[in-house]
Amino acid sequence: MEKREQLYEGKAKKVFATEQADRVIVSYKDDATAFDGTKKGTIVGKGVVNNRMSNYLMRLLEKQGVPTHYVEELNERETVVKKVSIVPLEVIIRNISAGSFAKRYGVEEGIVFDAPTIEFSYKNDDLHDPLINDYHALALHLATAKEIETIKTMAFKVNEVLKDYFLSLNVKLVDFKLEFGRLADGTIVLADEISPDTCRFWDATTNEKLDKDRFRRDLGGVEDAYKEMMHRVFGA
Ligand code: UDP
Repeated sequence: MEKREQLYEGKAKKVFATEQADRVIVSYKDDATAFDGTKKGTIVGKGVVNNRMSNYLMRLLEKQGVPTHYVEELNERETVVKKVSIVPLEVIIRNISAGSFAKRYGVEEGIVFDAPTIEFSYKNDDLHDPLINDYHALALHLATAKEIETIKTMAFKVNEVLKDYFLSLNVKLVDFKLEFGRLADGTIVLADEISPDTCRFWDATTNEKLDKDRFRRDLGGVEDAYKEMMHRVFGA
């Protein structure tokens, strides 16, 4: 697949056209942002970890029956994916209280929920990605009722697959963010990435944070945390 003009540059990835209208190439950067883009930095090697880990997880999910945008890993930072139009919702699944949930509801981090929760944010930088419910998403025509049902079912399925997988690596999957896209024919597929940028990972024995919270909260050892997750997924 040939990399052609750049279509888009986001906070953590660039997207390029290819000679095929229904394929794009994503290229993962080491740039990191947090708190609505107000905190900026570099996490050396992050792009490689996120590209390889996300691709591995997308392949695992495909095997378990979850359709994704993944097509082919080209090299350590670049991957061919199906071109989608992104549904402008950030879908967040939580198994354990942390982050904005703990803050919003005034509870400590680390409460294990009886059942996973789901919430949506409206992907809109100007509005700072506000929390939104299904009815609001429908009113704003962000997705159809059927699409929202599909997205919820897929998101909980992703959680079941990934929770078990990460536990086999002695990692608790605390929470994570997913994005979904529409193919040209309207099919909903899992898109974007699944990585330490978009998931909270805690060591199952020590509760040590192995994700972007080390960057957000200036905990140090940011690169080592990404490397440790890479090590647990790929060994060596
Ligand atoms: N998350 C993300 N992108 C965002 C917001 C959240 O990938 O723009 C992920 C985050 O890494 C965490 C989960 O979604 O794994 C829940 O994040 P939360 O709502 O607690 O927000 P945060 O505390 O990260 O601001």
